[in-house]
Amino acid sequence: MEAMNQAQGNGAGWNLEATYQTLPKALFEPCEPVPVKQPTLLLFNRAIAEHLGLDAKQLETQDAIFAGNALPPGSQPIAQAYGGHQFGQFNILGDGRAILLGEQVTPIGERYDIQLKGSGRTLYSRRGDGRSAMGPMLREFILSEAMHALGVPTTRSLAVAATGEAVHRETLQPGAVLTRVAASHIRVGTFQFAAAMSNYEALKALTAYTIQRHYPEVNQAENPPLELLNQVIAKQAELIAQWMSLGFIHGVMNTDNMSICGETIDYGPCAFLNAFNPGMVYSSIDHQGRYAYGNQPNIGHWNLVRFAETLLPLLHEEKEQAIELAQNALDDYAERFNVAYKRRMLAKIGIEQEEEGDFDLAQRLLNLMQASDADFTHTFRALSEERAVPLQLEAAPEYQEWRTVWESRLGSQKAESLEAMRRVNPWIIPRNRWVEEAIEAVVEKGDFEPLGHLMGALERPFEGSEATREFLTKPYEEDESYQTFCGT
Ligand code: AMP
Ligand code: MG
Repeated sequence: MEAMNQAQGNGAGWNLEATYQTLPKALFEPCEPVPVKQPTLLLFNRAIAEHLGLDAKQLETQDAIFAGNALPPGSQPIAQAYGGHQFGQFNILGDGRAILLGEQVTPIGERYDIQLKGSGRTLYSRRGDGRSAMGPMLREFILSEAMHALGVPTTRSLAVAATGEAVHRETLQPGAVLTRVAASHIRVGTFQFAAAMSNYEALKALTAYTIQRHYPEVNQAENPPLELLNQVIAKQAELIAQWMSLGFIHGVMNTDNMSICGETIDYGPCAFLNAFNPGMVYSSIDHQGRYAYGNQPNIGHWNLVRFAETLLPLLHEEKEQAIELAQNALDDYAERFNVAYKRRMLAKIGIEQEEEGDFDLAQRLLNLMQASDADFTHTFRALSEERAVPLQLEAAPEYQEWRTVWESRLGSQKAESLEAMRRVNPWIIPRNRWVEEAIEAVVEKGDFEPLGHLMGALERPFEGSEATREFLTKPYEEDESYQTFCGT
């Protein structure tokens, strides 16, 4: 085992900075990962390593770094403070099982947080053990990389390392550490933390830092905090519309899991739809359906209201005026979401320039899919290639009528429209059952073949490679009791 603090991997391309530590100390706590018994690298993402300017070949031999047993050179590790509404209930949280190793500045000057997740207890661990089970960390790796390949803004996964230690959940499970890469880990909850502490200085500094790091153009605006709010609203409206267009259910859209830079973050209980059903919930703890597929746009708004509340003291000296400014900005969310959602749903049926009745056409297809339990992804891809749509849908009498109207709408543009559809309707998504099977093979048998195979197919979801096609006929429906769990 490596001694803590012993810098490892010099020359591997590490270029870590720690600008977050210029913020008031209330927002973070210096803290080191807790070494584990037996670090063993399980997965390593060469593509993202190269993007980060890291030498994949060297790092693949440095298991210690990715388990938290050694620090990369230049690392000044911290745990970040944040709060958050969890299922509507506000709590003070913070990195209870994560450590920010630093910000890697890439060869082209981009800045990414490098974070270990599952790296041991911190000041913010409350009653938790600071650890993660291997299954959920593999799941985050697969899902986040699949989302990236689908073109969705998301945190990425650099590595998963086994710890050689067991974690106690409902059962004893092998532990692992995930190395997460993010544009930053600043959340709605980070602002809520500063606001809840009534720490105006921290709030002001955090706002300035966030603008500088993610939205520098906002500094030109007359009221930069207000423009920050506008930008975050726009980013989230677009992100959630994109999730909806792919059948993605985040599953735990607590305000601490909403990133200010607009990346999808926290892959605990997320899942993709099979059959189209707006009420779909997979998460074992979401009893009310707060984070159901069809409720995501509303919850996005709810979270953004919480964000706006934290910014009030910075929007205007007069509280009433601040509220009015915030309200006006928030009122734009619905319109922004609707525009983005409409654009994406119309693109899914090959329509670029909206004409009257087009959105109704898209909506009618969704209704038919819902009534016939048709698979969301397969239906759109089948339409894109003039293959037969799922049987249940094909058999619905209104479907033939819908299809006639749709085809006449595409008219002479049909070939081009279908080509455009193939760029937005994936062949393959990370279906829950396949993901489970791949994880199980690694955790229970140390067999990486199914995972490698699945990830290979997920890499080019729109292209229809041989690997992808193979998954077309692979059974994917889970039984009705299938549930996802927070990665705790
Ligand atoms: P999450 O469900 O991953 O969004 O986590 C919500 C909060 O619980 C965050 O503050 C986490 O750091 C914390 N947390 C989750 N799991 C653990 C754990 N095993 N030990 C300590 N803190 C945890
Ligand atoms: Mg979280």
